Parts: sequence; C-alpha cells; structure tokens
Amino acid sequence: MPIASLAPSIAIPSVDLPTFFFNTVKNSTLFGQKPELPFLVSESKTLSFADLEKLTNALASGLFNNTGLNKGDTLLVVLPNNVYYPAITLATQMVGAVVTTANPLYTARELAHQIKLTGAKMVVSIDAKVPAIKEAVNSAASSIPDNLIFTLDGANPIFNILSTKPFPRVYLRTEEETKNALSFIVFSSGTSGNPKGVMLSHRNVVANITQNLAVDKSDKYLTDAYAHIEPNAHMIAVLPFFHIYGLTCIMHLQLCQGRPLVIMPQFDLEKFCQLVQQYRCRAAHLVPPIILGLTKSPVVKRYDISSLLFINSGAAPLTKELQQEAQKVLGFPVCQGYGLSESSPVITRISPGKVVYGSSGQLIPNMTAKVIDDDGKEVGPGEVGELCYRGPNIMVGYLKNPAATAETLDSEGYLHTGDVGYIDKDGYNFITDRKKELIKYKGFQIPPAEIEGLLLDHPAILDAAVIGVYDDTRATEVPKGFVVIKPNANKTGIVDEIHSWLNSRVTHYKRLRGGIEVIDAVPKSATGKILRRVLKERESQKHKAK
Ligand code: AMP
Repeated sequence: MPIASLAPSIAIPSVDLPTFFFNTVKNSTLFGQKPELPFLVSESKTLSFADLEKLTNALASGLFNNTGLNKGDTLLVVLPNNVYYPAITLATQMVGAVVTTANPLYTARELAHQIKLTGAKMVVSIDAKVPAIKEAVNSAASSIPDNLIFTLDGANPIFNILSTKPFPRVYLRTEEETKNALSFIVFSSGTSGNPKGVMLSHRNVVANITQNLAVDKSDKYLTDAYAHIEPNAHMIAVLPFFHIYGLTCIMHLQLCQGRPLVIMPQFDLEKFCQLVQQYRCRAAHLVPPIILGLTKSPVVKRYDISSLLFINSGAAPLTKELQQEAQKVLGFPVCQGYGLSESSPVITRISPGKVVYGSSGQLIPNMTAKVIDDDGKEVGPGEVGELCYRGPNIMVGYLKNPAATAETLDSEGYLHTGDVGYIDKDGYNFITDRKKELIKYKGFQIPPAEIEGLLLDHPAILDAAVIGVYDDTRATEVPKGFVVIKPNANKTGIVDEIHSWLNSRVTHYKRLRGGIEVIDAVPKSATGKILRRVLKERESQKHKAK
C-alpha cells in the first residue's frame, strides 16, 4: 500500500511563479507594509523589496523589447549568488521564457553541454566567465551572439537593457497552463549517465513552495519561535542558487515568507559565522560538510551564532553521529530534509521540535510514497527498498530524453529516486544507501559516467571506472578513479599526469579527490556494465583493514 503524507492536503494555486512570488511576499507580515526595507543584502549591494519589484519589471520589459527574448526561449544564468539573481529569473519567466541555471565554476566543456541541450538564446553571467562562455558557445555550435552574453559587472551590462516600455506579460491562470509551461531547467544526472536537463514547470515550483509554506505554518516549534522575534528575521543564503536546494528552499521560500536574505557568493566558514552574528540570522540551510565545520572548527567559537533557531541539512547524507554531535555542540536543533532536483526539490522534512536522528523526516503535504524491491514489488513499513515518490512537485521529465524520463517516472506518476531506504510505521523516512550511479561531493553532483567518459579520452587510458568513497573527516563522499593503462603507455608519473589532465577539464568539485588507482581490469558484468559494487566492496574491505 502506498504511504500518503500525514499532513492534510493543500490547494496548489494555479498561477505562474512570478505572480505567486510577488503576491506571497506582499501578503507576508512585513513587506506588504514596508517594501522599502532591505530584502536582499550582500556586502556590496542591498535591494529593498520595492527595488526588486521595479527591477524585475524593468528587466522583463528590457528582455522582451531590447533583446527579443520571447515565450518558450531559454536564458542561461551562470552566476554566483548575488542580489540580482531573483530579478533575473523572475523577469525571464514573466515574458514566458525558461531559466536554466549553471554553476559559475563550470568549465567551457560543461557549459557547452548545457547550452547545446537547452538551446539557450542568451546568457547572464559575470565578466570573468565570458571567455569560457564564448568558448562553450563555439563548441556547442550555438547561435548565441556576443551581444546576448550579458554580465552584471563588466562589458555588456544587463542593466543597459532596462526598459519601461510595455511588454506582453505572460500570465498562467489554469492548472493545465501551469503544468505545461516550464519555469526552470536544472541539471542532474538522474539515476545514470551524463547530466540531464530536469524540466520543472511553474506548477512544480509553486507547489513545492506552497507545500513547504504549509509545513512551516503548521509547525508549532517554528511558529512559536518566530512569534517571539522581530518580524524581519534574516536568513543566510550560502548554498548556491543554481542548485535546486538553494533556488527553492532559500531564494524562493524564504523571500516568500518576507524574510530578507543575507547573500554569500561563496562559502567561507568564518565569513558565515560573522554574517550570522552581524545580522542575527534565524536559520540556515546547509550541507553536511558545513555542519561538520560548524561542529569542529575553533573559528566558530569566536562568534555568537546563538541567534540561529535551527539549521537544516540537505542534498547529501548527514550521518546520525554527526547530527547528534552537531546538535550537542551548537545547542540548537539540527534537522535533515530530503529531496532531488527532480522533485523541485523537497520531499520530506522534519520539525526542529521533533528531530529523529538519522531520519530525513516525513512526507510534506500532497505527497505519496512507495518503497519497492528489485522486482518492483512494494515492501512494507520498515523494510528497505528503492524510495519512490509522487506529488505535484515531481518534474515534467528530462529534456529531450524520453527514454530516461520513462525509466524514472512510472505509469502511476512515481519518481524512482535511485535512493535506498525505508519508511517506519510513523512515516519517518530513512535514506540508507544509493543504488543509482550518482556521487555527491559536498552536495554537488558528480556523475561517474561523465568522468569515466572523459578519462577514456586520455591517450594512456584503456579503461576506467569511478566510484564514491565516504570520507568522514570531510563528511562527504569523494570520487575515486580506477584506471587501466594501455600496455605500451609510459607509466612513470602517470597518476599525477592524469590528475592534472582531468582537472583542466572539469569544475573543481569533480576532481578525483579520492585518488586514482591503477588496476589490471575494470570489473564488468557479462553485458559490459561496470560493477561499481565490486569496487565499492573492495574499498570498504581496505578501509576496514586499516
Ligand atoms: P540533487 O538533485 O543534486 O539535489 O541530488 C539529489 C540526491 O541527493 C538524492 O537523490 C540523494 O541521493 C541525495 N540526497 C539529498 N538529500 C539527502 C539526504 N537528506 N540524505 C541522503 N541523501 C540525500
């Protein structure tokens, strides 16, 4: 029997994301009345809610009237977190276009894949990234002209296009319209293979914000805690907005509740503590390695971070041991949530008032789960299997990839996550393993197939496999490569040489931090599939022997 959320079902508004966003902020306690207060705060620039609304409209008009961006087109955002991020994404969606977000540290090769697949018509980035974007445009044989590669800080500023001319604002008003029109294309490798474009509709993202708002509203711990503090409780935005966790849970969800964001363009533990202290931040969405830093680093003791009501960990497994230790050291609840790019992302959450160590929480409203065995048969409560979920936040599918979509979304609409775990009799979800290929380094995705494909291009490599190994000193998995060297290749210094060859082709977090081991043969099944389990088993034996 499928397991339904214990929370009452809620209505999902049939509106587009920009309409939903501005209406919700205006109805929040503070910004409806005082739109001139700081809303998006960074070290170099602050925008009020009124600034954000004006800028978004001027950008939408400029995009339509001065660049020709139109309904159905795609705009690529290659930016670190900054105060302009929501204006750019919301303006794009106001004219009916779709936003695809990329990591600003991507190499030209990685950007080319995204440009090619999404057919992006224009780009917004920073000056330092323009050479890599131009190289990517060339290698993707894309028709994006140089004048449609905009920056926030250098030549061809996006601010030059601002306009007050009327433009055809695209409003979505029915369930059908909000289901069919895309708001974002984010990237995920899914259960196997190379990064794929995850198509999220307006309804998907509006649903996930609404589901989370309902949980926040019904959570006694949160409502009691917020009732006793000043209304403009700042939140800290340290996780990247290009990833779905930062995009939905920080950028949209916090702002929708009228909570100003203190924005960090990149993570630095000391800066994080300093900003939490300075702005008396109330909560933080984090990933396990940051929680490890907060728990262990002496730097933290130099700051007063006691304003935090709780922190939430997501995007990667948080061990029960670290969760317990963190909560003890920090003195406030450390919760865990779970989700995927494919689910916009939140599926389960836990209340800071009822933390169950090791659990990523219960289903948010309007979600149903089933846990299946290797034959696709449902298993009972407490039994381990693949976790599958259904709800209004589950993606439309993978862009231009019906085969991968069909493998991931079943005929009943369940998303097969590739994550392994169980749901106990009280509805608490526990993630115990991952059967999909994905490796997560500090919450970032590393598709092994992508790295293996690259390694095979190296002139000395005959065969290659990549697996994730858990490093508890860093509270993250790290990727480890196994290579078979061609018989006649020069083997002296080969491991160092492969590292530097690969590092010039991938963004920093895809580097083989778990090392490269030269082996005689990659273990494979009769059909030629890499037997990653065998390699993982060997690694864990070695680990135990140490
Ligand atoms: P992404 O699409 O980058 O957000 O990655 C989603 C994947 O991250 C999930 O399928 C899980 O494998 C992993 N993940 C996310 N949250 C958790 C969690 N709380 N515990 C364990 N793994 C998680």
